[in-house]
Amino acid sequence: MISGIVAVLLNIYNQYMALIKKILIANRGEIACRVMKTCQRLGIATVAVYSEADAGALHVEMADEAVLIGPAPARESYLDTKKILAAVQQTGADAIHPGYGFLSENADFAEAVAKAGLIFIGPPASAIRAMGGKSESKALMEKAKVPLVPGYHGERQDEKLLKAEAEKIGYPVLIKASAGGGGKGMRVVESAKDFSEALAGAQREAKSSFGNEKVLIEKYLAHPRHVEIQVFADQKGNAVYLFERDCSVQRRHQKVLEEAPAPGLSQAVREKMGKAAVAAAQAIDYVGAGTVEFLLDAKENFYFMEMNTRLQVEHPVTEMITGLDLVEWQIRVAEGNKLPLAQKDLKINGHAFEARLYAEDPAKDFLPGAGQIQFLRYPMESDCVRVDTGVREAPFGEGDVISIYYDPMIAKIISWGKDRDTALRNMQSALDNTHIAGPKTNINFLRALTKNKDFAAAKVSTHFIADHHKALLPKPSAPANETLALAALGLLAERGEPTSDDPWGDLSAWRIGGNESDTFTFKSGEKDYPVTISYQDSKVVLPDGTALRVAYTLSSFDMGLTVQIGGKRYDDAVVCKHGLHIHVMYQGHYEELTWLDPLHAGEGNEESTGKLTAPMPGKVVAVRVKTGAKVTKGQALIIVEAMKMEHTITAPADGVVAAIHAIVGDQVSEKHELIALK
Ligand code: ADP
Repeated sequence: MISGIVAVLLNIYNQYMALIKKILIANRGEIACRVMKTCQRLGIATVAVYSEADAGALHVEMADEAVLIGPAPARESYLDTKKILAAVQQTGADAIHPGYGFLSENADFAEAVAKAGLIFIGPPASAIRAMGGKSESKALMEKAKVPLVPGYHGERQDEKLLKAEAEKIGYPVLIKASAGGGGKGMRVVESAKDFSEALAGAQREAKSSFGNEKVLIEKYLAHPRHVEIQVFADQKGNAVYLFERDCSVQRRHQKVLEEAPAPGLSQAVREKMGKAAVAAAQAIDYVGAGTVEFLLDAKENFYFMEMNTRLQVEHPVTEMITGLDLVEWQIRVAEGNKLPLAQKDLKINGHAFEARLYAEDPAKDFLPGAGQIQFLRYPMESDCVRVDTGVREAPFGEGDVISIYYDPMIAKIISWGKDRDTALRNMQSALDNTHIAGPKTNINFLRALTKNKDFAAAKVSTHFIADHHKALLPKPSAPANETLALAALGLLAERGEPTSDDPWGDLSAWRIGGNESDTFTFKSGEKDYPVTISYQDSKVVLPDGTALRVAYTLSSFDMGLTVQIGGKRYDDAVVCKHGLHIHVMYQGHYEELTWLDPLHAGEGNEESTGKLTAPMPGKVVAVRVKTGAKVTKGQALIIVEAMKMEHTITAPADGVVAAIHAIVGDQVSEKHELIALK
């Protein structure tokens, strides 16, 4: 009887409060996994959607149910509203969380979700639309008295008028695509003579990326900081700000390291920015999580840039300093609840950083990469270290694949400390204990960044990376002795674990074919580095003549080596061999060497084999030569498009095209042979 009454009451309560029981996450990777973690904690069932490329992905494994929604290209899967709504029908989910990217800021999608009688865990379509265009949102913010960067954001787009506006603002100016995002369609113009060409370039890029060539013009601020405010609003008209994040450290106008709170920001300006951001949200009847982005100049003047009507990639730093779960807040607000806390109850506790680990090559202007992870180990999580990712840790050769179809972010490493220095030290140590091999990554770059003196002194601006280019991206130098020693020991260990009762053994058990010694030669840059292992006296002899005694323990050769080299102990150093590429990883170090294996002479060296292969998975967009053609060194042969960028395969030496193994339109995998030269 009582349980019957309880059930009826619960039913009425659920209907009234629209309690969410099952959420479909219309996204993939790290954000999908992040949302699922909160759902699991709250006892909400989860549905994953996935493309054919993601069948084995972590977000699929984590979900209670999963629905295949199409082939790898996002257009045919993650961006297809119909397929996502069909997956909801099929699984009976009652709400959709869009994550970030993909459909998260698509007003038509939010509308379609609401029309289907489902809860969209995000703002109403009208609010997304209001902030959709940079020009339109600026006009709105002007009305709400939110300070703007001086500039022009009107409807008229004729060149004469735009140029006159630029004169009025005063050079340098920034031309921005109104529909822009991801740093595309932006051009800095230093003086009037460059205006026309820059405008044409910005319009071209805007048209091809966003299908709309409308631009706006802003004063280009010298060395500003990017400071953004996290806001939250409920359906009852309450709104608060959850303080700020400093995201000034950027490459290609894109964030790579964020922190909260913004170092050195005065309390008065923090409050002023917070209130301006809340005013911005209220001006468009905002609901849910949103971010209002500002530029801050040296005098603490701040100017509205744009509002992102979704959860941001960098939201964890806000969670770390407030102790809140923003995804839980999103769900509670979507259910119709009041905001869990009022402004006066919100406090900043300590400091937090987030570093984004990407498959990209910092040495090649941060060119995005892809491919299979060969080894991956994250730092241990604790109250001070958190890892958000959709990519699994992996022993040798068994890692997840970073697909060319999606964003190349691998993980976010997040740290907390009671103050900025402590949080930074925790970040440095977390990055020193993050080990990855496979596609090129920015791990060494992130380590250099977080150990940079000016960064430690919080001298940040959006030009930080450009201004510190030399220090952050030093020219490759000769590998350290310990790297070479570990590489040689790694190759020995790979042949099998020697048996010994002694906790610290010598190298004799590794003797190959009864030799007294063996020499392994590694290549780095243009130079060769021979390393000799002398078994009898258990020594490693390095190219500069240094001889160091080696002892090892039998701890865990499958995951890492524990060795002493010259009396210094290396715990869990990892040497990962992929073909002839040797990845050496130990506390704070990563280096890739090539092993000149005498049994495979010439392999991995395209010049000597004449085989030219695809640098990464992609699509062949041009073939510039025919079979039998004479080519000269450096001549463009084939162009492969991968990750929205073109890669030109050039002739490594003069020769004749013996065979072509690809035609325009072919999808090729990494190392696929494209052309053979004689
Ligand atoms: P997107 O939407 O393409 O990411 P944003 O408008 O958010 O473009 O700007 C991206 C970055 O470009 C900012 O974080 C900042 O570093 C830089 N930026 C934008 N506007 C200006 C400006 N007026 N002056 C100087 N830098 C700017």
